[in-house]
Amino acid sequence: MTQTIGIDLGTTNSVAAYMKDGRPEIIPNLEGEALTPSVVAFARDQRRWVGRVAKAQAVANPLRTVFSIKRQMGRVAPEAGAGEQIVSSIKRHMGSDHVLTIDGRAYTPVDISAMILEKLKADAQAYLGRKVERAVVTVPAYFNDGQRRATRDAAALAGLEVVRLVNEPTAAALAYGLDIEQAHTILVWDLGGGTFDVSVLELGDGVFEVKAVNGNTRLGGDDYDERMAALLAERFAQQWQVDLTASPESRRMLRDLAERAKIRLSTEAQAPVTLPRAFGRGARCEVTVTREAFEAATADLTEQLEAPARAALADAGIDPVELDRVVLVGGMTRVPAVRRLVRRITGLEPYGHIDPDQVVALGAAVQAGVLDGGLRHVTLVDVTPLSLGIETLGGLFGRVIDRNTPIPTSRSRLFTNARDNQTVVDVHVLQGERELAADNMTLGTFSLSDITPQPRGEAKIEVAFDIDANGIIHVLATDLQTDASRRILVEPAGAPRREEIEAALAESRARMDSDRRRREEIEAGIRAENLLRAADDMLGKASGTESVETFAGAADVAAAAVREALAGGNGENIGVAAKELENCLKALQAALRKAAAFLATQGQAA
Ligand code: AMP
Repeated sequence: MTQTIGIDLGTTNSVAAYMKDGRPEIIPNLEGEALTPSVVAFARDQRRWVGRVAKAQAVANPLRTVFSIKRQMGRVAPEAGAGEQIVSSIKRHMGSDHVLTIDGRAYTPVDISAMILEKLKADAQAYLGRKVERAVVTVPAYFNDGQRRATRDAAALAGLEVVRLVNEPTAAALAYGLDIEQAHTILVWDLGGGTFDVSVLELGDGVFEVKAVNGNTRLGGDDYDERMAALLAERFAQQWQVDLTASPESRRMLRDLAERAKIRLSTEAQAPVTLPRAFGRGARCEVTVTREAFEAATADLTEQLEAPARAALADAGIDPVELDRVVLVGGMTRVPAVRRLVRRITGLEPYGHIDPDQVVALGAAVQAGVLDGGLRHVTLVDVTPLSLGIETLGGLFGRVIDRNTPIPTSRSRLFTNARDNQTVVDVHVLQGERELAADNMTLGTFSLSDITPQPRGEAKIEVAFDIDANGIIHVLATDLQTDASRRILVEPAGAPRREEIEAALAESRARMDSDRRRREEIEAGIRAENLLRAADDMLGKASGTESVETFAGAADVAAAAVREALAGGNGENIGVAAKELENCLKALQAALRKAAAFLATQGQAA
């Protein structure tokens, strides 16, 4: 099976990660960077660029460069304008029936997102040196069904099966291993390029529940860049008499300079900004922006972050002092003014050390690791912790779903009647790792009645297990001949606790050898009984046919030996005797066939 990777399909940047030796690691793109700008460009020579190159050429090709497509997922189409309006309006309508037309070809937000995912997939394959076909993809917690479906569709177009969509705040918490730490109440503060999302999560029974989400889908780093761009345009106009707002090209360039200056001010008190000579009419034009000036120009934006955060806490019924952790996501949370606000509201120092640009992708990789079955300590989150099955002939445990199978899942197996003309089948649903039904835990029992009376082994009873994402188990038994069915439901409340699971596993490991021997004995017994029935049948047919007498005699003796061995109960003896009987029956069958063929030719001759 190929490895599942984690993908943060972001508004501004996208990131891929995978599990390496039990830890999540970033998958760098072909350019060697962790972040791939979520930008697609359509060059005039029909080529298509995705990522850094697309972003870099945007200044020269602003009208054919698509930014922030994620905002389009799953929304109603806006009025489409022409040129720049199309490109900027696209930012607010990801997943809609909104269409972007370039060179006479229409592209939906799903198409554009698929192009970004295609690059992530191709780069991951190149880096990992193997095929990548499955991914855990993150989505904002507030994404509706349409937006989630659009995300899945985009992945499918890119040749990726989405094995799970995970909410971004949950992924961020998983990256910090907060599920293991048992921190109960977590606030995830996610300020990215285009959006602000704040989520309050509660951890219970190994699962994160999103208690409340709030935010502003029109507030993010882009808005800070715009303010910075205005500041810079004003300074360049004043000090150098250069108008940078005149053309789409210079406006795009101004935005790039603004973003770089903003990033620089996260670590430095001031940022010098130099204009490329082409825009400064050959002169070296430079201005300087201080952090103070930037904070003053964006104070109202930062202020707008407070109300949604307080609303999310209020909706979740949580007082800020009850918070255990605050996790920061998104490059904009590196801005000192934003961090100050987080501290002021929550009274907590933001948690940890993981790069806020990478934390969501790393968490998606952790989830991918869980689903691939490699991560044991978080098995309770999304895989079935113990095998599920039913009791079969001889008191054996017939597994239908193996432990550590990712949920939701459904699987079925065919069972048959153990006795001739049986009209009722009792279904005993079990969970555990032991070979004998009696050694495992009973989840429930039910009877399927009115099955068609038939000789032993002829009935076809399908037992289907279905576990939903919440761990609820449905068991459905159906008589395929009559379509009569019975269903039971096992609630997660009835599911074993972690200690019980660990005890069950330890016990099954300790008894592995003796359990296996016991299963082999029982299976040998069942096989022997089936052979005896076949022997009775064949000996009946053989009686009176002289030419097969010797073979019939030998089979008779072998059958008696099997009966004796069965009475003795020794598995090995049963196996040896059964093998002998099997050989005798084969010989008898061949002799019977020969006799029948001979009779047929006699008949024709006569
Ligand atoms: P995201 O959508 O999470 O990728 O966040 C991207 C946003 O974070 C963009 O607006 C970036 O300009 C911004 N950003 C990235 N790094 C920094 C930084 N060091 N300081 C300030 N903003 C940053």
